[in-house]
Amino acid sequence: MTRIVIIGAGFGGIAAAAELIKDSRNDVTILEKADRIGGVWRDNTYPGCACDIPAPLYSYSFAQNPAWSRRFPPHQEILTYLEKCAADLGVTELIRFGTEVTAAEWDGSRWLISTTGGALKADVLVPAVGQLSRPSVPSLPGAETFRGVAVHTAHWTPDVPVEGQRIAVIGTGASAIQLVPAIAGRAAHIDVFQRTPPWTLPKPDRRYGRARHYAYRKVPVLMQASRAGTWLLTLVTGAAVTGNRIADRLVRGVSNVQRRIQVRDPALRAKVTPDEPMGCKRVLFTNAWLPALARPDVDLVTEKIVAVTEDGIRTADGVDHPCDVLVYGTGFAATEFLVPIRVTGRDGVALDDVWREGAHAYLGVTVPGFPNMFLVYGPNTNTGNTSVIYFHEVQARYIAQAVRLVAHGDKPLEVRAERAAGYDAEIQSRLAGSVWTGCQSWYRNASGRVVTNWPGKAQEYRRRAARVDRSDFR
Ligand code: NAP
Repeated sequence: MTRIVIIGAGFGGIAAAAELIKDSRNDVTILEKADRIGGVWRDNTYPGCACDIPAPLYSYSFAQNPAWSRRFPPHQEILTYLEKCAADLGVTELIRFGTEVTAAEWDGSRWLISTTGGALKADVLVPAVGQLSRPSVPSLPGAETFRGVAVHTAHWTPDVPVEGQRIAVIGTGASAIQLVPAIAGRAAHIDVFQRTPPWTLPKPDRRYGRARHYAYRKVPVLMQASRAGTWLLTLVTGAAVTGNRIADRLVRGVSNVQRRIQVRDPALRAKVTPDEPMGCKRVLFTNAWLPALARPDVDLVTEKIVAVTEDGIRTADGVDHPCDVLVYGTGFAATEFLVPIRVTGRDGVALDDVWREGAHAYLGVTVPGFPNMFLVYGPNTNTGNTSVIYFHEVQARYIAQAVRLVAHGDKPLEVRAERAAGYDAEIQSRLAGSVWTGCQSWYRNASGRVVTNWPGKAQEYRRRAARVDRSDFR
């Protein structure tokens, strides 16, 4: 038997487990720090939280769901779908909940894994902890003195007060633009603190009615057709951010028209007009964001935040903005990957040191010096324009092949350093000319290296990671 430990029971970890258990010689355990599966879909419960990639594509290709209530379903529905998939695939019973991995060390022949629930040994380690699992809260002067409720969007709980409250929301990213419209009208007043206006696009959302559910159940191939249609749509947005000028002009034009129609006040429109290259941050699909900002009970504040006071937020113009609830919609420490897990590879080398200048991995999956370790959703495998689940499935199949090689070989599988370095040089040189270098975002680390995103189209990634090439490994 090959003992495999997967860290994390989100979409990535479950995809990997589903693929790996197809081989009965694999003994798979999933370690999950929380008491429920779901990753970001378990953690993010703020009002309005939903997926902004259509569900037919933001789901497993092998487990299409005939029952989606709409094209862009709310988070609870996605979580329920994932739980059902895990149960149906026989993955749930492999999960050890409430078990947080603190360290993993290669002892020369296997991985020694330290967890809050004791130690484990594994032949193969599959970290699948996601890129957006660690909330990032800026250290604003005086934050600790605030007397109201302060919460990050990813830590929202049902008891965060909204009704009749004065609410400050810092940030205008994917999370904030979903939250604000959902609480506007319930809160007494909302101040939105914007540092940079995001590019937006209309969200082609629609209800899926009974006729569609019936048709999908009776003729499942229709779901594949819907998935293919969604895929074609994402090809256009993908082309727009990866250098196709016609697609760029088209998408930019749609965004400009949306702004003109939804924001009548020229002063507000000027404030929400992006000045960064479109796509350097995630382009946001929304119908409700701009109308929410135009409401009389919502103010968009563009002055720089200089401090948090006992009663609210102070901006650079000296104005105090009192609030009862302070929401950090300030994103995630995406570029730190496996932090805070201490991973030590061959010859006692720490992954932290190898990744000091920025995380990198061959095909985003495997790192020289770290034998028999294969990442899901590792460095440079994120996509801002199509579904990351597509990438997870490619990685799951790659990892299953690699594990077969591990099982059949008498040596651990370690990617050749020169092969990984050549790959990284290629990826970084393509990224150097990409739109993502046009501004600072969670795609780039402090030194500006793009560490999260894949530079090309999703199908290129699938082609390149379709087969494990034995010659890539020592
Ligand atoms: P984000 O995109 O990183 O946005 C963070 C926001 O906080 C930005 O507007 C940023 O401003 C602002 N900010 C950060 N630090 C600040 C500071 N010190 N002062 C003022 N403003 C500050 O984070 P997110 O909205 O949580 O989204 C992260 C990712 O999660 C998304 O890109 C997406 O991939 C995923 N997500 C997906 C969905 C979905 O529907 N599928 C929903 C939510 C999130 P700047 O722009 O100026 O940096």
